[in-house]
Amino acid sequence: MLVSAKEMLNKAREGKYAVGQFNINNLEWTKAILLTAQEQNSPVILGVSEGAGKYMCGYKTVVGMVKGMLEELGITVPVALHLDHGSYDGAKACIEAGFSSVMFDGSHYPIEENIEKTKELVSECEKLGLSIEAEVGSIGGEEDGVIGAGECADPDECKAIADLGVTMLAAGIGNIHGKYPENWAGLSFETLAAVKEKVGDMPLVLHGGTGIPEDMIKKAISLGVAKINVNTECQLAFQEATRKYIEEGKDKQGKGFDPRKLLAPGFEAIKETVKEKMELFGSIGKA
Ligand SMILES: [Zn+2]
Repeated sequence: MLVSAKEMLNKAREGKYAVGQFNINNLEWTKAILLTAQEQNSPVILGVSEGAGKYMCGYKTVVGMVKGMLEELGITVPVALHLDHGSYDGAKACIEAGFSSVMFDGSHYPIEENIEKTKELVSECEKLGLSIEAEVGSIGGEEDGVIGAGECADPDECKAIADLGVTMLAAGIGNIHGKYPENWAGLSFETLAAVKEKVGDMPLVLHGGTGIPEDMIKKAISLGVAKINVNTECQLAFQEATRKYIEEGKDKQGKGFDPRKLLAPGFEAIKETVKEKMELFGSIGKA
């Protein structure tokens, strides 16, 4: 059964660890993440971007696949199925399709509009017992080769959004999506502490978890981060393992062309990456 992310994140915040959100792209990704969570006895959040949702034939397909796997793989750890960086319409569609959690990313709207739209979705999620994540201060990334430094959120705007009753809050603290550039300035712990001061017990979300040094991750958790998003790192692990299999000519040996063999090294690489992240975040054994 899918659960809201609320309880697992409140427990994480209290216990000073973080729950990983791992984004899924297909069956292999989903199975690898769910099996690892079960093996490690860790709560987990499956993230689905709108693009990945389309790729997997729509949100209903995703819900069907995930629910089927929970049952048939015997998954008993808490699992939330969460829309990542959702639009207003995307959040509504996921609520309808059976997701247990959504993110509404209104960070590109003026703050008043972000507040208004977030508020509407909060009331809808509350009725259904779903968790909802909001974002303040957009989280940068590489766009057309231009690398943004990663914005820092305004703590007062964070409080305005947190007060609407969202479950968790993503605040930009210098983090960015994708690979971090060589000259990246690092996370702004000043911003994080200022946000935490304003929002109190609200679990905070760290996006762009790929490539942030371990000591910074641990410090962020100690300052109130209870959810960390990982996407690119699993993609890179999958890519490297698949490349190695093909470069070694294994796809040409025997039945090495069988997709179940061809995709197996990438699948194992995702499992390894997820396990490493769960260790770093401290969520192992916390289911
Ligand atoms: Zn993000």
